[in-house]
Amino acid sequence: MSGAVVEVEPLDGNSIGGELFNMFGREMTAVAGACRHCGAVAQIAELRVYSRAPGAVVRCRRCGQVVFVVVVIREEPRIYLDQFALEWPTGSPSHSLTLLGRCLRLLITMLRVS
Ligand SMILES: [Zn+2]
Repeated sequence: MSGAVVEVEPLDGNSIGGELFNMFGREMTAVAGACRHCGAVAQIAELRVYSRAPGAVVRCRRCGQVVFVVVVIREEPRIYLDQFALEWPTGSPSHSLTLLGRCLRLLITMLRVS
């Protein structure tokens, strides 16, 4: 490689649609969220996904910062979602809280694993 920067061509958010569907129990690629780094709002399908084992790193398309990470451990997808504020088109507050709790539990599980 001799120090050359290797450009990895990113996929889009549809590439992790299956994992997200398994995790949230619904289609997620059309759900929008806001990048906590720069505030840019985008649908998950529009985000940039850098898929390298053992997981996928999802970056904001505007600022390029990591907004969430999906890893699959023993065939069970886990998500690290603290830098992307999801905007639920039909979500009730209670649903959002449930989801937040679920994400936190997933995060705690991840921390135990690593
Ligand atoms: Zn951003």
